Amino acid sequence: MPVDDTHDPALRSWVPSANRPGSDFPIQNLPLGVFEHPMHRDRRVSVAIGDELLDLRACAEQGFFAGSLADLGAACSQGSLNALMALGRDASRELRATLSAWLRSGADGVHGWRARLEPVLIPTERVRLCLPATVGDYTDFYASVFHATNVGSMFRPDEPLLPNYKYVPIGYHGRASSVVVSGTAVRRPSGQVKRDDAMEPVVAPTRRLDYELEVGAWVGRGNTLGTSIPIGDAEEHLFGVSLVNDWSARDIQQWEYQPLGPFLAKSFATSVSPWVITFEALEPFRVPALTRPAGDPEPLAYLDSPRTRSAGAIDLRLEVSLATARMREEGLPPHVLSRSSLRHLYWTFGQLLVHHGSNGCNLRPGDLLASGTVSGPTRDSRGCLLELTWRGSEPVVLPTGEERRFLDDGDEVVLRGWCERDGAARIGLGCCRGVVIAATQVDAG
Ligand code: CA
Repeated sequence: MPVDDTHDPALRSWVPSANRPGSDFPIQNLPLGVFEHPMHRDRRVSVAIGDELLDLRACAEQGFFAGSLADLGAACSQGSLNALMALGRDASRELRATLSAWLRSGADGVHGWRARLEPVLIPTERVRLCLPATVGDYTDFYASVFHATNVGSMFRPDEPLLPNYKYVPIGYHGRASSVVVSGTAVRRPSGQVKRDDAMEPVVAPTRRLDYELEVGAWVGRGNTLGTSIPIGDAEEHLFGVSLVNDWSARDIQQWEYQPLGPFLAKSFATSVSPWVITFEALEPFRVPALTRPAGDPEPLAYLDSPRTRSAGAIDLRLEVSLATARMREEGLPPHVLSRSSLRHLYWTFGQLLVHHGSNGCNLRPGDLLASGTVSGPTRDSRGCLLELTWRGSEPVVLPTGEERRFLDDGDEVVLRGWCERDGAARIGLGCCRGVVIAATQVDAG
């Protein structure tokens, strides 16, 4: 899948805000999402361009997806991206080429696209953005060896990294029903916790609420139950990525996680950013998979391929910030807690997808495969408070003088992601935000 004229950094759009330096959504990005129409109150597929979005259902209704584009037009007329995801990568490439041709400077000339599209362009601030897809299944992996090692060393100092880690992409099945779009408030969960000095657990609001800085890959074309996906075909089944915050209650997690892994410590909420950055848009930012340290095993054959080695990873920069209620009252901007990059992952999204389907498990369009906390090798690249404050022993000090070991009510967590390098246009993922609200009264029964 080559870099083509849609990636040309010199390309400009006739939508002025798309050309503003630093915009997450220049014409080289063209991320897809779903919004609630301000008048019709239905959900519609759209593409972001600068500060606006293009209503793709309206484009279909006006016959802009004519002839060979009819399948794309039908898929763009749905209330979610699932139908578009199911069409596969050839369709994604065709949609990207089409949208790029419509929105680029010069398109106001010969074919008059500007005049036709301006009536169906809507300022993004005027709409409510929705979950981009109906998530049938959500799986969370553990693909950062730095995160796995940090967490492991807190709980198992003698053996931080279990011997399977370098062979098996570790994951668990998350909860799809509580995947929510960025901006949704997150209620502090209550659950069974056993305090260090107590003999018995109690049911109480978590005191150790945390975020996890992650990226999720959306599955495109699925596979049939009983069949697996060869690593060489992995990219054909990957549609795009969004930011993911895997909210976690560490005290609930600590009491419940053995022997079967995370459960209620994670399933109360998972936030995702509304725009899906397609794998086409990410193409200029593909980089070799992490070089494994000397002595580490090579991936088993079903997880190894020339493409994985040469360009399996993505150089996607990540940042997490925190704004307390007091910081917002005082007009202070969110405070950056850490920065990381997706290129630090031990496993690529292709490897995660192939491993997931290797037992014949069927993946479906709109399934969400999250990376796990994207921590890097340094202290300032740790992707959750558990690691940053080392289980609460080294609190973070904020510009107001407030300290955080874990999240307080009123705290807003903001994730951002973007790709940039010389010779390519910078593209962004937008942001994924959520405010923590107080727990409801625990029902003692
Ligand atoms: Ca996670």
